[in-house]
Amino acid sequence: MTFTYDEWKREAAGLAFRNDLYIDGQFVQAASGKRFETVNPATGQVLTDVALGAAEDVDRAVQAARRAFDVGRWSRISPGERKEVLLKLAALIRENVPELALLDTLDMGKTITDSSTIDAPGSAHFFQWHAEAIDKLYDEVAPTGGRDVAMIRRMPLGVVGAVVPWNFPLDMATWKLAPALAAGNSVVLKPAEQSPLSALMLAELASRAGLPDGVLNVVTGYGQDAGQALGRHPDVDCLVFTGSTAVGKLFQRYAGESNMKQVWLETGGKSPNLVFADADLDAAADMAAFGIFFNQGEVCSANSRLLVHSSVKDEMLDRLRDRADKIVLGDPLDPSTTMGSLVDAEHADRVMGFVDRAKQEARLVCGGERQSFMGSDAYVAPTIFDNVEAGHEIAREEVFGPVLAVQTFDTEAEAISIANHSVYGLAASVWTRDLGRALSVSEALVAGTVSVNTVDALSAMTPFGGVKQSGFGRDLSLHSFDKYTALKTTWIKF
Ligand code: NAD
Repeated sequence: MTFTYDEWKREAAGLAFRNDLYIDGQFVQAASGKRFETVNPATGQVLTDVALGAAEDVDRAVQAARRAFDVGRWSRISPGERKEVLLKLAALIRENVPELALLDTLDMGKTITDSSTIDAPGSAHFFQWHAEAIDKLYDEVAPTGGRDVAMIRRMPLGVVGAVVPWNFPLDMATWKLAPALAAGNSVVLKPAEQSPLSALMLAELASRAGLPDGVLNVVTGYGQDAGQALGRHPDVDCLVFTGSTAVGKLFQRYAGESNMKQVWLETGGKSPNLVFADADLDAAADMAAFGIFFNQGEVCSANSRLLVHSSVKDEMLDRLRDRADKIVLGDPLDPSTTMGSLVDAEHADRVMGFVDRAKQEARLVCGGERQSFMGSDAYVAPTIFDNVEAGHEIAREEVFGPVLAVQTFDTEAEAISIANHSVYGLAASVWTRDLGRALSVSEALVAGTVSVNTVDALSAMTPFGGVKQSGFGRDLSLHSFDKYTALKTTWIKF
């Protein structure tokens, strides 16, 4: 499926948005009757107004989820039956890729090329992968011997609350929903207020696929209200979150002050990309540019720190400037655009704050300015800073925009020390042709994922998540089911 710019614009003009809460199989108004506007950041225009869910709505959704769980029409059917429904959902997502892609692009500014070839097909793939996995997971029998059988079974937890960010709206929701639902839980999903639209369509598709009412509920609204209410709800068994480290810490507090629900956090990052002198510099430059500029740099695992051996720094910088120059900033709906707008003008203000402060400390190589298209100034040019030092703000803080900080090193030990000098530990990359160095450096880097001679390696087959203040728990892979199940021992004497 390839559309022209005009065709995407026509499709966008014809969209009908789902914009109410989705509770117990129905689209409903918020109890307060209030609504909030969701804006297309690429133009600054309002897309639609959306039901503003708050505590009362979260409670309604949790009650529906609990009823659905207790009735057992999802939680107690066989894994194979759940698989069939989720495979149908994956097929429906595939049939609706253009519409789902448009919703994310219009809501948060990512390019239509990415949303239609990566995000929306990715969502179908992740649902399919977890659906296919769930009836291949065997439980255990302990080697007790004698006249005893001790079964160790994986049980669904009950009601899962999922709070997700705006940078990959459909995929971040899918990473939580696919394993949670496959394992038999009910879910209340709270999408980010900046990007609520694709989650509502996903809920409708899940219902069409045969998911029973109440098993998946979507409460749109602000984090402070709907998100907090979910985090504090006494009948939520498990809260899974992707977002900022600051808000992740709040969820730990909410759980501690309410029912001690399990909390799993995927939070921020400041991932280092280490380029040794023996690296393939062309490939390293291609991927270093991708690692920081993909999705406007709004990626938790963005390789935002480039640590390069001092002997090849100039060659790397020349190549990186060349890659940055080739980026086409503009309307995300235009297939020739390679970088869209940031999620909103406020976030562009925040990113430009980092850029302006960095200009006082480091050397600007390229970019460093805001741009306007179609009446919106939420665009930031691909930006590279050289001569960055460990103490600089740009080396420590997550910018969440297209801004790369370049530092140099002379020895392997120094590279590792700079790389690990961070409160975060989500991802890291290493470029070298020396296999021994690749292994020893990867081992020494403190991160959930280390990519060697690539960046941000990721698949449904491998766990994704962090250490330190990047969070804990893993999305994707068979390990994702660990978050959504409790081990239950049943010991029988005969
Ligand atoms: P955010 O933390 O502001 O918001 C994330 C979600 O939390 C949203 O749904 C929001 O409504 C909700 N929220 C906000 N304040 C809340 C509160 N007081 N109580 C309860 N809920 C609240 O993050 P963001 O700006 O949407 O996303 C960017 C952040 O997400 C970055 O830090 C990025 O690194 C992180 N992220 C991490 C991963 C990962 O897998 N580690 C993936 C994507 C994004």
